[in-house]
Amino acid sequence: MGQEMYRERELPDALASAVVPGEVRDIAARLEEAGGQAWIVGGAVRDSILGRQVRDWDLATDLLPETIRSLFPRTVAVGAQFGTIVVVGQDDEYEVTTFRRDLGYSDGRHPDTVEYSTRPEDDLARRDFTVNALAWNPDARSLLDPHGGLADLDARRLRTVGTPHERFAEDALRILRAVRLSVQLDFEIERDTLRAVVRLAPTLTRVSRERVAAEMERILGTERAGAGLELLHETGLLSRILPELVSCYGVAQNPHHAYDVFYHTLAAVDGAAPEDRLVRWAALFHDVGKPETRVLGEHTATFYSHQIRSEQHARRALSRLRFSNEDRGDVAHLVRQHMFHYTSDWSDGAVRRFLRTVGPDQVRALYRLRAADTRGNGKRTRVAPELDELAERIEQVLASDAALSVKDLAISGHDLMDRFGRPPGKWIGSILHALLEDVLEDPSRNEPSALLARAEELLGLPQS
Ligand code: ATP
Ligand code: MG
Repeated sequence: MGQEMYRERELPDALASAVVPGEVRDIAARLEEAGGQAWIVGGAVRDSILGRQVRDWDLATDLLPETIRSLFPRTVAVGAQFGTIVVVGQDDEYEVTTFRRDLGYSDGRHPDTVEYSTRPEDDLARRDFTVNALAWNPDARSLLDPHGGLADLDARRLRTVGTPHERFAEDALRILRAVRLSVQLDFEIERDTLRAVVRLAPTLTRVSRERVAAEMERILGTERAGAGLELLHETGLLSRILPELVSCYGVAQNPHHAYDVFYHTLAAVDGAAPEDRLVRWAALFHDVGKPETRVLGEHTATFYSHQIRSEQHARRALSRLRFSNEDRGDVAHLVRQHMFHYTSDWSDGAVRRFLRTVGPDQVRALYRLRAADTRGNGKRTRVAPELDELAERIEQVLASDAALSVKDLAISGHDLMDRFGRPPGKWIGSILHALLEDVLEDPSRNEPSALLARAEELLGLPQS
């Protein structure tokens, strides 16, 4: 079976008119001048046909990694044993991979051995889904489609190359990629492929947590994140990734909510913008403490202090997913603070104290979270007008440069030590925090002589 077999006379219209970046064409030309083949492969072919923005341009060739390296001025070998060379261009980086055949996957994660090949068909056969197993040469205007990927693209259908069960057993990450790609592309997962996803869901535990987290990020970053989470639940994958969310399933709420806690959470995630990454994660966790804090009344349920439990779950889950301390802290903080109850009669001091507690860096994210939460109640209520009022008042405080932390006070701990001739100690922090409380109430008090006089009073010293 030569590659001629798969050569299409006519490219699909989308490919015939697709714009391939100049650098990609240059790399392909270079490979061919050196006597090699050059095929664009993977997501770039798929997304070009779909008319979607291409994320990364990958090429495959029969040339060996050493040869590829010798052809380009700037390269990085990533996993050279797997034959991938990153060509560093002016605009971007491009992966150039030697055709390969994967031989045996005894651990369900990595091939035991890989063998270089001179046939692109071998390389396409090891790829996960038919729509990812296309190879395209724009100059020769040819497309290799040995697995029916074009037809599946047309039907918007995700199907493994070869037997689903075998392909997922080789590499369990593909199970999660199936869900991610179906959500990202808005494709249906073909029946046998979906069956294998469900059957092999328990093997997801073989996949490293970093890779699971990366796929979860991709799912949360799509327009259809809620549908993605629902699919993860229905396929039995979610309990292996976020069991705390699964426990929200079927937990009924009070009449303000159209949904149970699980579906409310999915709607709240969708209620934040896809690129609002940490707010989406916070929406995902904001109510996971509800199942264990629920108290049933006659007509309603209450969930007192659920945000505290939710925060604890968020921290644990995000550690498991290997989040950075900073991101984990930010998400946990948003979850912890999401239950504020603003009313128009808040004093300016109350607004400043709220801002002090939430932090100026996080406050905008917090009301984006609240807006997402409100959108997620499924009752089509307007996103609370009082939230806009709070946002406006907060912007005023931020613009006024009012002190919000002890660092913003007009005097420092050194000033206190100098003034009162006392050694460093806990007293400094206590005084500064007490002064801040005063200043939050009345910003005009943030002035050195007034602060020192008040400190003197607080220290119980006789007024001079
Ligand atoms: P996107 O870049 O939009 O995330 P993609 O399909 O390009 O989608 P990549 O992770 O960039 O995804 O992988 C590039 C290609 O490599 C895929 O299209 C697929 O052909 C192949 N591939 C990636 N991961 C696997 C895997 N675990 N098993 C088999 N083939 C894979
Ligand atoms: Mg890609």
